Amino acid sequence: MLTYCTNCLMPDTKPDLSFDEEGVCSACNSFKNRSEVDWSERKSELEAILEKYRSKDGATWDCLIPVSGGKDSTFQVIKMLQMGMNPLCVTSTTCDLSEIGKRNIENIKELGVDYVQFSPNPVVRSKLNRIGLMQVGDIAWPEHLGIFTLPVRMAVQYKIPLIVWGENSQNEYGGPAAASENNVLNRRWLEEFGGLLGLRVSDLEGLEDIQKKHIIPYQYPADTELKDVGVTGVFLGYYLPWDGLTNALIAQAHGFESYGKVIEGSVVDYENLDNHQHGIHDYFKFLKFGFSRATDIACLHLRRGRLSREDALEMIKKQDGKFPWSYLGKPLEDILAPLEITVDEFTKICDRFTNKKIFKLDVKGKLLKDKEGNLSKVNYDNP
Ligand SMILES: [Zn+2]
Repeated sequence: MLTYCTNCLMPDTKPDLSFDEEGVCSACNSFKNRSEVDWSERKSELEAILEKYRSKDGATWDCLIPVSGGKDSTFQVIKMLQMGMNPLCVTSTTCDLSEIGKRNIENIKELGVDYVQFSPNPVVRSKLNRIGLMQVGDIAWPEHLGIFTLPVRMAVQYKIPLIVWGENSQNEYGGPAAASENNVLNRRWLEEFGGLLGLRVSDLEGLEDIQKKHIIPYQYPADTELKDVGVTGVFLGYYLPWDGLTNALIAQAHGFESYGKVIEGSVVDYENLDNHQHGIHDYFKFLKFGFSRATDIACLHLRRGRLSREDALEMIKKQDGKFPWSYLGKPLEDILAPLEITVDEFTKICDRFTNKKIFKLDVKGKLLKDKEGNLSKVNYDNP
């Protein structure tokens, strides 16, 4: 049995989510607290930080922005340009970059910024995708690692102290640049946001012929290097009222391209457009925790008063956690091909990572699936 938040529809299986005595989840409560935030004061705080790090003689970049090309990173770049910053934008290429993702990266450059794209060795990366999927049920493991390590490596490389990140999952924290003491980014601080599921980079050596030299992009710079440059970071989501839909509208007005129809497993068309592996990543979240992309997005809109709980529930039932036969139109078997995994093997890996307590079983105790291979949760709401 799953217990759901009485305000939104997040289940109690979500890692790090807590519930108050009324059964309201911490995400809902933290969103409610945001209505008391003085945003103009926060913006002044941000301006002061930017002023501190802005290159005084124009000899180098003012900040580094990690960008995927998505709606949020497009928004980050627009805001930093509006606030007079001269950023270096850096992309750690996704594992299976889509055509629309490529176009959105081109669009970011056209906003008028210097830009570097770093593409880790695709042969090694496919091995890491395979290891991530088989060992911890997360195909996106190397990507999640890379989006945290690479910008930091680049900040050291280009000697740019300030990294401007987007949203912070904790929300009530501005990042190390705002902290009065010890405002240097360190390994431990970033590892909290990485979601590495207990698989460490050092565990990789020796697996599938991977050697130390193959995983350079996935290693943090040494603490001494971080200190020498004074690498630090801020989360824009703390300083600016952060809303995915608003970011998408602003990004679209600046050339960002949405998909034009609802994406597989989602309820919107404007996010997670850059990687064909997103569908598999999201599906495993569903198998492990009983919620996925559609729930995430429906809950964001529900908290903002744009959806009733009833309507959100119907949307989730219809869209959430469907077997990922395709993503952004690319068939599953083509997505799996570089990993040398067949659809049949994939299904077996799925079953291995499925939490059998939260899905319906047949009389023999096997997972009940419809003809499309979709599972059914034991309950979609509180009784
Ligand atoms: Zn909630």
